[in-house]
Amino acid sequence: MVNALIYARVSSKEQEAEGYSIPSQLKFLREYASKNSLSVQKEFTDIETAKKAGRTEFNKMLAYAEEHKTIQHILVEKTDRLLRNIADYALIDRLIEHSDMIIHLVKENVVLSRDSRSNEKFIFGIKALMAKNYVDNLSEETRKGMVEKAEQGVYPSFAPYGYINQIAADGKKVIAIDPNAAPFIARLFELYATGDYSLLTIRKKLLEEGMIYRGGKNFHKSTIETMLKNEFYTGVFYWKGKKYENAKHKPIIKKVLFQQVQNMLRRPHQNKSKKGIFAYSGLLRCGVCGCALTAEIKKGKYVYYHCTGYKGKCNQPYLREADIELEFEKLLGNIRITENEQEAILGGLRESYRDKVEYHNNCVKQLERQVKTLQDRIDQAYLDKLDQKISENFWQSQTAKWLHEKEELTLKLLAHQKADTNYLQNANLILELAKKAADLFKKQNIEQKRKMIRLLVSNSTYQGGKLDLTLYSPFEAMMKGRESGNWLPESDSNQRPSG
Ligand SMILES: [Zn+2]
Repeated sequence: MVNALIYARVSSKEQEAEGYSIPSQLKFLREYASKNSLSVQKEFTDIETAKKAGRTEFNKMLAYAEEHKTIQHILVEKTDRLLRNIADYALIDRLIEHSDMIIHLVKENVVLSRDSRSNEKFIFGIKALMAKNYVDNLSEETRKGMVEKAEQGVYPSFAPYGYINQIAADGKKVIAIDPNAAPFIARLFELYATGDYSLLTIRKKLLEEGMIYRGGKNFHKSTIETMLKNEFYTGVFYWKGKKYENAKHKPIIKKVLFQQVQNMLRRPHQNKSKKGIFAYSGLLRCGVCGCALTAEIKKGKYVYYHCTGYKGKCNQPYLREADIELEFEKLLGNIRITENEQEAILGGLRESYRDKVEYHNNCVKQLERQVKTLQDRIDQAYLDKLDQKISENFWQSQTAKWLHEKEELTLKLLAHQKADTNYLQNANLILELAKKAADLFKKQNIEQKRKMIRLLVSNSTYQGGKLDLTLYSPFEAMMKGRESGNWLPESDSNQRPSG
């Protein structure tokens, strides 16, 4: 018997959808192991929640594989169970390249090892890029829906203390002043502006005057600070970094008073220095001591980068930004891909597309079910109100909450439907982008350049007066492939590998 590990992963959302649970993945993989005479030494499972981003078991599995040289196989259901993003991909890629480890992507009929054909590795790499890209795309679509609402002047989330989410007579959702809470907000700003109170003493004062926050009297002074900094109370709101002056909710305090309070809250050391004005800050690493490179302006116009030297004095020479720029252009210019090659890659990805469709259908079905449940609740509550089983107030507040939930679900549903059809289109976009990388890079602004580097470049270190830049390996293959010419997916690459 040969030793193997099993890895299964599910996000908390997926877990609710049929067929995506950890037990079903484990069962599937155990069966595969016994069919192929593999002895499973250990099983690792990750359940991801929105709050807990790290994959502790994934890392433990890699460490375990590293320590136990007798382990030669890792079994996973499919690529997107193993990889969430390109960073995970880099870890797996290194594992394969530097050991005899064999990765089985069982449902995809792919076995990856150091000796795998480069086309298989290539498609694996592109899928890793897609995993990240897909999630970005999904959140993008959801964001669009929220932004549309914001454009209409309605804050697309829960109103802060002082206001309540309500349904207007025409059935539309609005944010109204909460007559019980708003006076305390007005009082808070007025008192604080006198300069006679600290956050702590003002909290005490308001509690004495009868303030109740979210059903209680026990809240931290930082809650007070958050309120004092919330411009929402002046009749505007921020959504995703943009300020909306056309807000439909009524102000509780005047802008002048708000500004007065801000001046009192602000302390000199809180004025952070301008960040992110340099194109490559945070993207380059010192190859000698491992510190990040930082930028500064010399003679009023030339931008130079150098090691921060946090780990002790580091004597590497300064690096001109203009030279860095040229190096990146040169690197990206090395990516070559013809129309035929592009078509062949997309062909390889089309196969995994079917799997995605299945996942989406599941998600969509589930979201639709949830929407229906909420609608049933809303309908029932309305009947209960008519029958006077519940009070008018209770009906108002519950229905507002449910409508809000329903709206968020509907947005997600919409996002799923759009993202679904975008999958292959996205793959195509990535390839298009890679193809024209050098040209695009020259034309783009700092923010776009940084995005592009993050998408394409896996490593950038500075050592011995030289920049050492590496592309992520799907793209690296596009360069190396020029010489060996063997990375292009072949027509027989979809067949089940033997062994
Ligand atoms: Zn250094």
